[in-house]
Amino acid sequence: KKRIAVMTSGGDSPGMNAAVRAVVRTAIYDDCDVFAVKEGYQGLVDGGDSIVQMHWQDVRGFMSEGGTLIGTARCMDFKERKGRKLGAKHLVERGIDALIVCGGDGSLTGADLFRSEWPSLLEELVTDKDFTEAEILPYKSMSIVGLVGSIDNDMSGTDSTIGAYSALERIVEMVDYIDATAKSHSRAFVVEVMGRHCGWLALMAGIATGADYIFIPERPPKAGEWQQELKDVCLRHRAKGRRNNTVIVAEGAIDDELNAITSEDVKKVLVEIGLDTRVTILGHVQRGGVAVAHDRWLATLQGVDAVKAILEMTPETPSPLIGIEENKIIRMPLVESVKLTKSVAEAIESKDFDLAISLRDSEFID
Ligand code: ADP
Repeated sequence: KKRIAVMTSGGDSPGMNAAVRAVVRTAIYDDCDVFAVKEGYQGLVDGGDSIVQMHWQDVRGFMSEGGTLIGTARCMDFKERKGRKLGAKHLVERGIDALIVCGGDGSLTGADLFRSEWPSLLEELVTDKDFTEAEILPYKSMSIVGLVGSIDNDMSGTDSTIGAYSALERIVEMVDYIDATAKSHSRAFVVEVMGRHCGWLALMAGIATGADYIFIPERPPKAGEWQQELKDVCLRHRAKGRRNNTVIVAEGAIDDELNAITSEDVKKVLVEIGLDTRVTILGHVQRGGVAVAHDRWLATLQGVDAVKAILEMTPETPSPLIGIEENKIIRMPLVESVKLTKSVAEAIESKDFDLAISLRDSEFID
């Protein structure tokens, strides 16, 4: 009988609860024992009460709750081998032989590292006399599966991540509110949204609200020239009778010389053409609230597939990441997807923006 643990890690995202619910219920349906690890990797490091067996009714009502009810954390201890060894010890102690991690690229990098170190961590636990050779025998291979929970939609190789559409919906709703007051007073608003290396939220929100101008890191404007272009665009729209201006700035916005473009920088430019300009930084409201339907079904189908993947895995199978491509749930090697995602940030840092866009794998940004 497989014993599967599920955890949410890193930044919370709407839909994580739906993923946990799907994992728990599919595992029970498939006759496995299932456990929740509380507070992300911290729960693995702590063990004890942080790893709890889950039953069918424990996830009742999870679908319509925001955030993650089993908790999440950033865990420094897990970045150290010592912490990961404790994690391995606690899993073996509880007889757990499979782990499903729902988190962003940091969490999935940690998951990948954990799997690659697994055999040597077990050896050390035997050397330390925590377990005997015979005791660790059933745990020689640890199955790890990744689910991408991230509001930024920043994972390469998958079309959407759990939480991204919910965050987008929230942003669009907020920009609509802002537009109403902006039009009343003929104001310009600079709205800053989340997304450090990824402009998906800014771009999609900009399209969905008809923004005047959008700043995203993958398609940066020319240093020293964007200011005039921004002025021209906003004035052109005003000349056509528009009573407000909306500029969406991704938190990681830059120019093509990699200088940061902040919402205050943008405001200054708009003030120069006489626009009464305000800045709104949306912040954590973007993470809040319940998941939209898209994220609920995405998390549910992916949670189901994560359990199926575990049941089909052999010790040779590379750890899979459950993704979605053209509306089909897919599996891809976790390590490749993590590598591809890191290479987007590297491409941006080396000013190869075309490469960043092709690696991002998004037809929209082109
Ligand atoms: P996210 O998963 O949302 O990208 P973080 O980058 O903060 O969030 O990662 C969440 C947690 O995953 C970290 O606090 C740490 O415990 C673990 N983690 C991240 N990167 C690594 C790594 N390189 N090695 C081991 N663990 C990591």
